[in-house]
Amino acid sequence: MGSIVLTSLSCFALYYTSQRLHPVYVVIGIALTLLFVAAHCFTAIINPGIPDRDTTKYTKEQIAELVRTESPRYCVRCKVVRNAWQRTVHCSTCDLCVEEYDHHCMWTGKCIGRGNLSAFYVLTISSFLLIIYTTVTALISHS
Ligand SMILES: [Zn+2]
Ligand SMILES: [Zn+2]
Repeated sequence: MGSIVLTSLSCFALYYTSQRLHPVYVVIGIALTLLFVAAHCFTAIINPGIPDRDTTKYTKEQIAELVRTESPRYCVRCKVVRNAWQRTVHCSTCDLCVEEYDHHCMWTGKCIGRGNLSAFYVLTISSFLLIIYTTVTALISHS
């Protein structure tokens, strides 16, 4: 949702500045917008690091034993043993365990973990650049 607002705003700013500024500014603006949209899609699509739910790996007795002895490390909902060194955390919003869990991103509606952390960094950096770039070009074209 936030991405749609930011993309529409940057398109509007690009259209506005295109009438007053050199086309190079518009090309840079389009490139930044495309990078932002691509990073957003990758962050939302890539598997954040959901461990395999191999329910056949443990017998009922073994699961009972895991719950008894390692309850903080065994996720009853996902039926997986969380690895402490992988910082696996159960996300209550997604109802999934995620390896190297960072946070649940409200903008993409996905967890940020091992798989999509780098795409998320590109998304944050490109969104900042896009906001700064559109603000600066709008100010330049107005003066
Ligand atoms: Zn879980
Ligand atoms: Zn989540």
